[in-house]
Amino acid sequence: MPVVEPIAFGTTERLTAAQLAAAPVRYPRPEALAAPLEVRPPKAAKGAEALGLRTVGDLLEHLPRDRRQARTIAELQPDEVATVVVEVRSITTRPVRRRGMKPLVNAVVADGSGVMEATFFNQPWLANRYPAGTRLLLSGRHKARNRFTVESHAPTHEGLAGGAGDAVAVYPATDGLSSTQLVELVHRHRAAVADVIEPLPARLRAEEELPDRPAAVAAAHFDDDTEPGRRRLAFDELLQTQLALLERRAVKEAAARALPLEAERSMTRRWIAETLPFALTDDQESAMAEVDLALARTVPMQRLLMGEVGSGKTVVALHAMLRAVEHGAQAALMAPTETLAEQHFATLQRLLPNVMVSAALLTGSTPAARRRRLLEQLASGELQLLVGTHALIEDPVVFDRLAVVVVDEQHRFGVRQRRALDRKGVDGHVPHVLHMTATPIPRTLALTAYGDLDVTVLRQAPAGRRPVTTHVANTAAERERAYARIREEVAAGRQAFVVCPLVEVSEALEARAATEEHARLQRDVFGELRLVLLHGRMTPAEKQAAMESFAAGEAHVLVSTTVIEVGIDVPNASVMLVEGAERFGISQLHQLRGRVGRGPHASVCLLFGAKESARLRALAEHTDGFRLAEIDLELRGEGELVGTRQSGLAAFRFARLPDDGDLLERVRRRARTLLEADPGLSAPEHVLLADALAAALGPEAREPIPA
Ligand code: ADP
Ligand code: MG
Repeated sequence: MPVVEPIAFGTTERLTAAQLAAAPVRYPRPEALAAPLEVRPPKAAKGAEALGLRTVGDLLEHLPRDRRQARTIAELQPDEVATVVVEVRSITTRPVRRRGMKPLVNAVVADGSGVMEATFFNQPWLANRYPAGTRLLLSGRHKARNRFTVESHAPTHEGLAGGAGDAVAVYPATDGLSSTQLVELVHRHRAAVADVIEPLPARLRAEEELPDRPAAVAAAHFDDDTEPGRRRLAFDELLQTQLALLERRAVKEAAARALPLEAERSMTRRWIAETLPFALTDDQESAMAEVDLALARTVPMQRLLMGEVGSGKTVVALHAMLRAVEHGAQAALMAPTETLAEQHFATLQRLLPNVMVSAALLTGSTPAARRRRLLEQLASGELQLLVGTHALIEDPVVFDRLAVVVVDEQHRFGVRQRRALDRKGVDGHVPHVLHMTATPIPRTLALTAYGDLDVTVLRQAPAGRRPVTTHVANTAAERERAYARIREEVAAGRQAFVVCPLVEVSEALEARAATEEHARLQRDVFGELRLVLLHGRMTPAEKQAAMESFAAGEAHVLVSTTVIEVGIDVPNASVMLVEGAERFGISQLHQLRGRVGRGPHASVCLLFGAKESARLRALAEHTDGFRLAEIDLELRGEGELVGTRQSGLAAFRFARLPDDGDLLERVRRRARTLLEADPGLSAPEHVLLADALAAALGPEAREPIPA
């Protein structure tokens, strides 16, 4: 098949008239990209399906992970796994004696450097498919004496991997469809690259010095340096998400009005000065000031409050809610679960004496009679603050004058929930919204995960919190010292956590490991201390009993699986010992560590694991959750970061964060200027971009949110 070089579309402004006349005229045919991808045999078709490769366009957007230098026959070492580009000299089928085995195929193959015998198993038909003279890409294992066992293979031709020693693309592959087969498949459809649409206006592309999209697709597959091609595709991908986020925000800002909360801060001032049992941290004060400015506008606030567990977000949120009350309006706080809603309600009652405001809790298990009365009080305006689950954006819930909504814990809303929330406003007003998340993420990720929100950060822990000293330990002597430290702390009246290794395969195994560790420590190490056990396989009553005895100080040491991660609060505990620490992620270890250092005592976190582990070293060096999140991102890449998964951020196909952070900043600026100039992306030069946006994100992503 002839190889068609992609034509650079959209570059006409740089060509002279003569060049234009001479250029081969070919317009992209997008329908060619929508053509179903035909893959044989059926096993390979299944593999393509599993990789999500349904159309020719899908295939062209399936980029190689990297390129590996093919080896030459002469270079191959015994037992080496390698890819080679060879030509078939002769090929024969040889029956196998063993019953049930298909004949072997043996081929004598050569490249410029040497000759070897390649063996194919279980595919007798290959003798006909690969006659002498066929050029093949072979991956497999080189045995001694010039014998090669083939694991995957595909025919090749000039221009694909030109010859011995050329770089060969390595594609993400799957069962049934090998990278080698993908190399061949992509080359078979190489001509379709010219059908790739250029969505960017020529001017923007020139200013950003980007190759055109067809050229970028070609480069990402076929060039020795695939990086410029990938970056261009990443630019488009990031631009689409930024445009969608900013457009959504702009539409709401243009269309919706909120109640401006601009009156004197008499009540909130008194609350802070007289009622709160502590002084605000600087971070809390500036967060409140930021929120306050936003609330004073008629543009609805769309803000994220980001701070670790214990950083004091609740007070900031409560302040925003009280600002509504101060204006004779109402506020609501929505939590993802009933338990969290109950906890918030308890906090609220603690921090707001009842004389100040009227507040109520509404969840799925609120009894019908109470619920009815509560809804009446809400509709009449008698009830000022409502805490609850999703139940509070359901239809029957009607507010008298809702001005502020706080949404806890990163369950980002879909379009429908957003609308339901906005409809709770009155007189054409939508509420100001403050989202809260306890998962700190670096700025690059915040731009993508929360790009439609302004971000306020609480970094500084409230006063009284003591930083925790962290050590990585692994020798027997260090273990003895760790146990001695626990004895000393207990002698001084403190308590300790021992966390057993994470066993991902099963909760039962994890429970068993914890049970055994508990028995071992009680018997061999801490005979004189009282130890309790806590794991996920215990009954709720047993768990409750264990936690209570530890919280009451009756037990000295709590031996547990990671169940304690979910919010046990024992300020008297001063040691956190984590076994098998390498099995945990950075953020998980940071959460575990947060269980100590909550009281006035100096605390220590002892991580058992390899000293050279980058993750454990990071924890030993840093206590700032934001810095740790950045390191986590650097070490693992964005797709793996737990927080981003939870926030519903789809993994990017082309972009890599944080590496592409600079690209993202550029894209963000571009997206802003694009939307300022053409808010609906309806100018002729933006039509293809708008189409690409709708195709990539679905039409819903661009649906305006009516007031
Ligand atoms: P978050 O919601 O961010 O996890 P909270 O708002 O629940 O944190 O605060 C954690 C604890 O710290 C609560 O007991 C709260 O009363 C207390 N707290 C909050 N702000 C301060 C402060 N400025 N000084 C002392 N304690 C504070
Ligand atoms: Mg909280």
